[in-house]
Amino acid sequence: MVMTKFRRFFCFSICLFTLTVFADGFTASVYAQEIFQAGVASTVITPKQPMWMSGYAARTKPSEGKIHDLRAKALALEDSHGTRFVIVTVDLLGIPRPSRNWLEKKVNRRYKLPPESLLLNASHTHCGPVLEEAKDSIYGNTFYGLSPEQLQQSRQYVKTLQRKLLRLIGRAIDNLAPARLSYTHARAGFAMNRRLPTEQGYRNHPYPDGPVDHDVPVLRVDSPDGKLQAVVFGYACHSTTLSFTQFCGDYAGFAQLYLEEAHPEVTAMFIAGCGGDQNPYPRRTLLLAQQHGRALANGVETALLSQASPVRGPIQSALETVTLDFAQPPSREQLAQQGQSTNKYERWHAGVLLKELEQNGKIRSTYPYLVQVVQFGGDLTMIALAGEVVVDYSLRFKAELPGSNVWVAGYSNDVFGYLPSLRVLKEGGYEGGGAMLYTDLPGPFAPSVEKLVVDKVHNLVERVRTPKSN
Ligand SMILES: [Zn+2]
Repeated sequence: MVMTKFRRFFCFSICLFTLTVFADGFTASVYAQEIFQAGVASTVITPKQPMWMSGYAARTKPSEGKIHDLRAKALALEDSHGTRFVIVTVDLLGIPRPSRNWLEKKVNRRYKLPPESLLLNASHTHCGPVLEEAKDSIYGNTFYGLSPEQLQQSRQYVKTLQRKLLRLIGRAIDNLAPARLSYTHARAGFAMNRRLPTEQGYRNHPYPDGPVDHDVPVLRVDSPDGKLQAVVFGYACHSTTLSFTQFCGDYAGFAQLYLEEAHPEVTAMFIAGCGGDQNPYPRRTLLLAQQHGRALANGVETALLSQASPVRGPIQSALETVTLDFAQPPSREQLAQQGQSTNKYERWHAGVLLKELEQNGKIRSTYPYLVQVVQFGGDLTMIALAGEVVVDYSLRFKAELPGSNVWVAGYSNDVFGYLPSLRVLKEGGYEGGGAMLYTDLPGPFAPSVEKLVVDKVHNLVERVRTPKSN
């Protein structure tokens, strides 16, 4: 899609008229292409010791080795005006908000990178370590029921991770070198809606008639002479093929590995999309995780064969919180009753909320939800949403935002729990509010949730698409 007025405005930025022959040899194009600076870096974040693993409450033992290393990767970009933007991806279940807060302060101080210029995204693999927030929480232990030693080990891991990410970002910035950016996309079909309507409510099970987003968006980074340097790709699907006790990046980890094997000089980075209500099917074997990884890598390879459209500057980004309301929390009496449940997670959650009620006199009623948007000239809009975002959001934004290509990521900057659409909230079930049982949040959200998030996204998109006057 072309937004001519918008694009014309941005084309005044420094452009080179280049005859482009992509390294893959299949695509040749001639277009005006801005030269960015781009730098990548990668680091291993696999725990050195066995650790409790995140994602499934039912695990009964810590990790036992690894299938492959978990990695964190960074892509630093700088437009011709010197504006920078850094994308960090991690093969982990989520991004703890305190880690995001720590990191954004440090990178601001050390690298002069403002918070809106830092995007963190987690693949949501369920075969990574537990990320216990380093805080003296009134809420105590998480539902995993870790021992004090395990809690300490997890907090230490998070501290080490934060320092690694800080150095990683510095290395990516140090590696900045001339590059061209372009956008392309393809499709992969293994994600399926997992909210099966039944007479007993919505069940976590394949639902072939439910909404999906099979798009595989790809940002390619080439050297000025057309050599592929990095490829950032997305997909909207839970990384839950596997549930065993070996560290593994699941399909997203395999897709990155396969791409880097096929292109040894290239760094491949996965950005999780709005896969909150999407699962990879079939699942539960290593072979299936590899097959889904291969399917996604093939999708990216196909996108690389297609005619990519240039991505130009300037880079403009915005990051803001929007205050989301929770529904009326349960009363003290209801919580006392829930505390007698035969379900240990219901008992745990009641205990957490009762403790909050005792200490603060009330249960929190809002959540500060992070929304980030980055605009590349008139060519690409990336929307990075916090939490486990259901697919309705990416379908909606891609349908209703005109102009440049739109890429919607979930699992960004703060993975606190699910972000349901109004439809999913009304339907109920796990993503609609049931999953709040495994967090320290009262849940579910109030019906205003979708409108508040959508309005904030539109507001930020409008802002980053408005050229700065200078
Ligand atoms: Zn999840």
